[in-house]
Amino acid sequence: MEYRQLGQTPLQVSIVGFGASPLGNVFGEVAPAEANAAIDFAIENGINFFDVSPYYGRTLAEERLGQGLRGKRHNVLLATKCGRYGVDEFDFSRAAITRGLEASLKRLKTDHVDLLQAHDVEFTSADQIVDETLPAMRELQRQGKARHIGITGYSLANLVSIAARAPVDTVLSYCRYNLLVNDMADVLVPFAKPRRIGIINASALHMGVLTGAAPPAWHPAPAHVREAGAKVVELCKRHGTDASELALSYSFANQDISTTLVGMSTRKDVQGSLNALKSNADPELMREVFDVVAPVHNYTWPSGLAANHG
Ligand code: NAD
Repeated sequence: MEYRQLGQTPLQVSIVGFGASPLGNVFGEVAPAEANAAIDFAIENGINFFDVSPYYGRTLAEERLGQGLRGKRHNVLLATKCGRYGVDEFDFSRAAITRGLEASLKRLKTDHVDLLQAHDVEFTSADQIVDETLPAMRELQRQGKARHIGITGYSLANLVSIAARAPVDTVLSYCRYNLLVNDMADVLVPFAKPRRIGIINASALHMGVLTGAAPPAWHPAPAHVREAGAKVVELCKRHGTDASELALSYSFANQDISTTLVGMSTRKDVQGSLNALKSNADPELMREVFDVVAPVHNYTWPSGLAANHG
C-alpha cells in the first residue's frame, strides 16, 4: 500500500480510502457480517483511512463502522462529517455541529475523529460556513475531539471560495475526478496544492456508473451520462479489462490526490481496489475510453443553493 501526506497535517493516509457510505445501505442492503469482514480485510491490506457521515443511512453507516472498528480504532484514521443529516436535512449551526459530533463519537465508539468535515457545504450560504460552522469545528478541534477539519461538497467553485476565506485542512469533492469528469484537476488542485490543503477524491466510480451495475435510484446523473458509463464498461470488457479497476487506477495514479475514497461493503470491493493498485492502464485503451466519454465529458449537475452552483 502506498501512503501520502494529507495536506500539511501529519496524517499519512493510504491512497485507497474506505468510503463507508455503502454501510448505510445506500447502494443496497449490506449483510453486517460481510461489512465487518470487508473492514478487517481492508485493514489487513494496509487501508488506514475510513470516511463516514451521520447522513449515510441516517446514522446506520456510523453505527456499523463503529461496530466494525471495535478494538481496531487505533489502527485507522477516522473521518466523519457534520451539518448534513438527511436528504433535505441540513443544520450547519454551531449548536448542531457540536451536538452532531458528540453523537457521531458515541456511534463510532471513540473519543475523537482524525478529521471532521462540514458535509455538502453548497446547501447553505458560504457566509454561514465561514462565520459559524468552521469556527465551531475549530473549537471542537481545540477540545481534542477532532484532530483536523475540512469541507466537502460537489460544487468546486463553492469549495474553493470557502477555502479562500477560511483556513481548512482538507477539501473533499466527489464525482469531479474520474473517467467521466476531471475538472477537479483544473479548479480545485491549482488552488489547494500550493496552500498544502489535503485533497480527497471521492466517487472515482462515479457513484457506481463505472461499475457495470445499475446505479441506485437516487443517482443524479442523467441517462446520457449513465449510457456513456455503460459504454466504457463494455469497451473495457472487450479489452479483457475490469472498468472499475481502470477507473480506480486513474485516480490512484494522480499524485495531487492524497486519497481516493471508494465505497466499499464487501471483501470483493476491497479486493477490486487492491487489484487496481497493481494494474497499469493500457494507453491505447485509455485513448478509446476518452473517445467514448468525449460527448459527456465534464458534464455536471446542479447541487445545493443556486448561488453556490459551479
Ligand atoms: P463510488 O464511486 O465509490 O461507488 C460505490 C459503488 O461502487 C458501490 O456500489 C460499491 O459496491 C461499488 N464498488 C466499489 N468497489 C468496486 C469494485 N472494485 N468493482 C465494482 N464495484 C465496486 O461512490 P461512493 O461510495 O458514493 O463514494 C465513495 C465514498 O466517498 C463514499 O462512501 C463516501 O465515504 C465518500 N463520499 C463523500 C461525499 C461527500 O462528502 N459529499 C460524496 C460522495 C462520496
